[in-house]
Amino acid sequence: MRLPARLVPTLALATALICAAVAPAHASPAPPPKTPEAIGYGGAVSSVDADATAAGIEVLRRGGNAVDAAVATAAALGVTEPYSAGIGGGGYFVYYDARTGRVSTLDGRETASHTADQNLFLENGVPLPFNDAVTSGLSIGVPGTAATWEQALRLWGTRSLADSLRPAERIAEHGFTVDQTFRDQTVANQDRFKDFPATRALFLPGGQAPAVGSILRNPDLAATYRELGRRGTDALYRGPIGADIVRTLQHPPVDPASGRLARPGKVDARDLADYRVIRREPTHVDYRGYDVYAMAPSSSGGTTVGEALGIMSHGGDLTDPVAYDHRFLEASRIAFADRNRWVGDPAFTAVPTDRLLSPAFTAARACLVSPDHALTSPLAPGDPYHPAPCASTGPAQPEPYEGQSTTHLTVADRWGDLVSYTLTIEQTGGSGITVPGRGFLLNNELTDFSFAPIVPGVPDPNLPGPGKRPRSSMAPTVVLRDGKPFLATGSPGGATIITTVLQVLTGRLDRGLSLEQAIAAPRASQRNSAATQAEPGFLALPERAELEAMGHVFASTPEIGAATGVERLPDGRWLAAAEPVRLGGGPAAAVRAGR
Ligand code: GLU
Repeated sequence: MRLPARLVPTLALATALICAAVAPAHASPAPPPKTPEAIGYGGAVSSVDADATAAGIEVLRRGGNAVDAAVATAAALGVTEPYSAGIGGGGYFVYYDARTGRVSTLDGRETASHTADQNLFLENGVPLPFNDAVTSGLSIGVPGTAATWEQALRLWGTRSLADSLRPAERIAEHGFTVDQTFRDQTVANQDRFKDFPATRALFLPGGQAPAVGSILRNPDLAATYRELGRRGTDALYRGPIGADIVRTLQHPPVDPASGRLARPGKVDARDLADYRVIRREPTHVDYRGYDVYAMAPSSSGGTTVGEALGIMSHGGDLTDPVAYDHRFLEASRIAFADRNRWVGDPAFTAVPTDRLLSPAFTAARACLVSPDHALTSPLAPGDPYHPAPCASTGPAQPEPYEGQSTTHLTVADRWGDLVSYTLTIEQTGGSGITVPGRGFLLNNELTDFSFAPIVPGVPDPNLPGPGKRPRSSMAPTVVLRDGKPFLATGSPGGATIITTVLQVLTGRLDRGLSLEQAIAAPRASQRNSAATQAEPGFLALPERAELEAMGHVFASTPEIGAATGVERLPDGRWLAAAEPVRLGGGPAAAVRAGR
């Protein structure tokens, strides 16, 4: 969390009107106290950053709706969380419209060039080393984020793009206070950031990672936002910002003295001009009387969370912690086996979205779950076209690697509209390549493709292709009850996004946890691999020994996810919940305490 340096009057005004959430801005650069829960009227915002949450609240307070506020929040995150999100990347936007009762989604995923094919990441027939691909032009897809903002505002917003970008523009102009998380992420990237002069100049001032408490300004990004506001996203998809993006990725501006080989990318001006945000029907499952809506492919978020919920719904009593954890881990394991076999960009492969979510298929897969023994991974996929109890098809596939970065924000407004929006530039720091003079990093999203089939001879729906979108794990989710908004949630964390969202949803819906408790609870992530990743807090749970006796194997990992959410309380107030600790914690805010 960071405070803007010279935004004190604006933010002090905004935050003074926020009920219990974002701390008032002081002249001191010390980070504000963490405020992971806020309850109030008039709408609410939850994100991982104080400036971003305040930007969204400011829009709501001035009469904007959830979509306006979500775009303002996301644009601010592009300034203060530039290693996780920004106009160099893409994401998925889920919107519940209280007036129509409909849930709509936007797929703003990055795309490969029309000149790409399945050999994109092969050299001499051999897959490139993963890290060579990450820090290269080759991994950079056509960014979708600016187009997502513009389209969301056009379809459902009440503000112009220029108005929505203004709070973020001010933060970029005046600077924000560097916190420990930002510094740590910079240090972790220092070795590659230093090799790109534009990245070095922006994020390694004086050649070093900025100190905690120092002010980081980004006037280039402020100017880029201004240009987008003035000219619309044509400036990026058909104009000078786009020309700079193409030049940068085709000729990565690496310091020749560094000796780094940064391979050129293929995306060109035509790819940018052809880019389209896609409106998709959300995935939908009925889970214990709740309607759970999420993102359909090209993300695997909705199908995998939804399939796992289906498998969990065929189980018994989930109030017992051992029974719950066992079923959660097994449902995740099975759903990951299926997503890797069946889910990719639906423009290239027939993705059986409805079949994966059907009660017939989830019952057939739930048949595999024993009450007292863990399954062995890798587990073979099931066949959603021919669901048969406990049956599988083809060989098991190991889980491919996926980076972990990304950010999630959640907004509710006074009319009852909800936005759940996850956006990313893929790894923390993306490709590491900043567009010179423009103030933003380009993504490395194309590394989410399989570089080669995971198992030779088995169809892999996630190989690169011309104009194709790599499969994502992002899982922005909206839950309705009796046709009314109940909650919205999502998380960063690469493939662990899916298990985190599943854990938050079932923590809230099955275990009687509050939304804040469900977000804070210790996490584990089973993704069809021999060992389940688990946080130290999970490993310290009393049920661990029983789970191990059942055959579950755990590997410790420091942190999984950093979710946010909002929930409508029965008395009409909004509860906003943010991550209390992970990634430094995030601020939740409601517009006002009283009616
Ligand atoms: N590239 C990942 C995805 O689309 C997101 C990156 C992350 O969350 O770390 O699923």
